[in-house]
Amino acid sequence: MKEANPSGVFHDVHDIRVLDKEVPELTDDSAIIKVEMTGICGTDLHIYHEGLVPQGSVLGHEFCGELVEVGKDVKDLKVGDRVVVNPMYNGVGLGPSPGGFAKFVKIDKAKANHNIYVIPDTISSEKGALVEPFCVGLAAINKTQLTAKDNVLVSGCGTIGLVTIAGLKSKGVENIIASDISEKRLELAKTLGAKYTFNPKTDGSLKDKVTELFGSVMALDYSGKLPNLTAAFECSGVSALFGQCLELLAPDGKLTVLAIYSKDMTISPNHVVYKRLQIRGSLFYSNEDFLEAIDLMDKGIVDLTPIVSHHFPLTDLPKAFEVQSDSSQSVKVIVDSI
Ligand SMILES: [Zn+2]
Repeated sequence: MKEANPSGVFHDVHDIRVLDKEVPELTDDSAIIKVEMTGICGTDLHIYHEGLVPQGSVLGHEFCGELVEVGKDVKDLKVGDRVVVNPMYNGVGLGPSPGGFAKFVKIDKAKANHNIYVIPDTISSEKGALVEPFCVGLAAINKTQLTAKDNVLVSGCGTIGLVTIAGLKSKGVENIIASDISEKRLELAKTLGAKYTFNPKTDGSLKDKVTELFGSVMALDYSGKLPNLTAAFECSGVSALFGQCLELLAPDGKLTVLAIYSKDMTISPNHVVYKRLQIRGSLFYSNEDFLEAIDLMDKGIVDLTPIVSHHFPLTDLPKAFEVQSDSSQSVKVIVDSI
């Protein structure tokens, strides 16, 4: 297998290059994937704009592909399996190990349902590239433990907000309000399962809107009533909106934070105490989240393909990063290795 291996390499801030790298050599405990498609993630953009990984790192951690070589010690995977990867184990595409913006990727210590998951053919290459980001939303939902009766705000409708909406809907949560400043993203939020949308640029006060939709509850420690908002997922990365969630939630409300913030802010901690809020951060996912994500996609219960706004061939990776960086034109950019 002496084919070329064009790879998307981080060279410097705002400088991603497609270079010819060696095809990785198989070892006894590894597997080699021929990559089909790879999504560009917010984390890739942080790396692109801020550095954070060593020069020469091959990025891309949201990918699927086909196994073309399997080491002799890897008993539970075989050549021809189509797979997705849990990048957290080896830091695949995040600096420590080369990632999916390439033609071939080697996964060390390959083990099914641990760091590699076989996907059925019902999951196309495009859907396969969306499994990992879906797991981010699903993990947050699974940690939060909602019921179908919850009234939920999803704050921010980038990829993570949108997959969170789809995950909530798949678990029977109906009362979802999605908030974003982009009408295009709010349309997608509706497509994926948000019953209501809110645009702070045009729709007035979110507190009034949520009260109108979900009713209000008495909050003894507050001078008036509060909207009956029982859970919020903060996916925007705007610090002030974290504070807004604390303000809006009803007593015993749950705030789950999925975003990464570049600015600090001042909050009133009394919201947390007076309302006995439960706040949790969610980052990454478990094996169970991966298996659940694959199952929901396989059965067609969740279809995330509407969020894909662009495809670029691997050779156009620098352009793909520019387009993903411009949130006014893109939602999810996918890079095709095939
Ligand atoms: Zn990611």
